[in-house]
Amino acid sequence: MPPSRNEDLFRRSREVIPGGVNSPVRAFKAVGGIPRFFRKGTGAWVWDAEDRRYLDYVGSWGPLVLGHAPPAVVAAVEAAARRGLSFGAPTEAELELATLLTRQLPAVEQVRLVSSGTEATMSAIRLARGYTRRDVIAKFEGCYHGHADALLVKAGSGALTLGQPSSAGVPAAVTAHTLVLDYNDIAGLERAFSERGAEIAAVIVEPVAGNMNLIPPRPGFLETLREQCTRHGALLIFDEVMTGFRVGAGCAQGRYGIVPDLTTLGKVIGGGLPVGAFGGRREIMALLAPEGPVYQAGTLSGNPVAVAAGLATLREVLRPGFFETLEAYARQLTEALAEQARRHGVPFSARAVGSMFGLYFRATPPDSYREVMECDTAAFKRFFHAMLERGVYLAPSAFEAGFVSSAHGPGEWAHTVAAAAEAFGELARP
Ligand SMILES: *Cc1c(COP(=O)(O)O)cnc(C)c1O
Repeated sequence: MPPSRNEDLFRRSREVIPGGVNSPVRAFKAVGGIPRFFRKGTGAWVWDAEDRRYLDYVGSWGPLVLGHAPPAVVAAVEAAARRGLSFGAPTEAELELATLLTRQLPAVEQVRLVSSGTEATMSAIRLARGYTRRDVIAKFEGCYHGHADALLVKAGSGALTLGQPSSAGVPAAVTAHTLVLDYNDIAGLERAFSERGAEIAAVIVEPVAGNMNLIPPRPGFLETLREQCTRHGALLIFDEVMTGFRVGAGCAQGRYGIVPDLTTLGKVIGGGLPVGAFGGRREIMALLAPEGPVYQAGTLSGNPVAVAAGLATLREVLRPGFFETLEAYARQLTEALAEQARRHGVPFSARAVGSMFGLYFRATPPDSYREVMECDTAAFKRFFHAMLERGVYLAPSAFEAGFVSSAHGPGEWAHTVAAAAEAFGELARP
């Protein structure tokens, strides 16, 4: 049999691009098989190189809250591009986006735009260290904050040990200042602060974890984090690169009523183009260059085309009722999938927070990194391919959250449930 077009493209890509992809998870390593090369997308649907159609629950890993190529965003991008692709000088659109972000997030009095989530978290960490004049940062195992050196760290052996690099090429000296804690472990958090509190510059957290599948914060977890940071003079960084304008118009901080010191954003605020941001209290942000001693810069920061996409996206997202509709879809989707699994006797659970959802091949939804790791990855793999064959594109890994867009409606819901009924049926057979 001759290779399919996806196969051929993947083979040729692997010749000139490491692993054939420009970001590792796209390579389908966790599920096996050939990644689909996408040719176009409209609304909730994408078409691959062989013109096969899929209902998309990845949404470019979060940014596409309006679905693919929403007309208002495409028009804004076209208009901005005609006016000039980049100036390397301030533009009115940046002021507009910054104003909008500070209005939506009371904790963000000032904000700086960057070009990715990685840049946002890396810069926020530097700023927190500059502000507190402390070196140690704390993060939670299973939370992902981009690929900056200090954040590519996993727990060492035993609680409260300093982190070890989770990537080759990261000096142990860099992660020696990073503490790794357990998500949703309130007692562990208090212990860490009682032992190391005076050294901690900042704690960075995904307020709803979305990079170890989906794990919402346990009641009291974020509250304790806020309280401990304040008591010990550490800054609390909410990494809302994924949750920002995904779980509500006030992001996760609005949803849970917690005021972080610094916030990082990305994904949705660029509407599919590269935009990131970090912001917070004025007195902290004042330390950034050119006002203060903490250096941070970017040739394409605040790029006019990217900012136009972000602004046009946020204008749609902030219409009244937008999140209610999205959230209802996500909730009904998880309930319907759980029902199908039950019918076929497949151990499975699911849940949604805003427009993010988690599917777990485990009888009850996990609350910790350890519990997520107990999910049946072999079952997920089979489910993933069974859904893919039926034209539903889920994230190609058991440890990623799913995303719903405003383009997902009743037709999409019915398509998904029909596919899932068959897929779970397939799983139930040995
Ligand atoms: C995606 C993500 C990042 C990294 O953003 P990039 O734009 O991929 O660099 C950081 N933090 C969180 C929570 C994310 O989900």
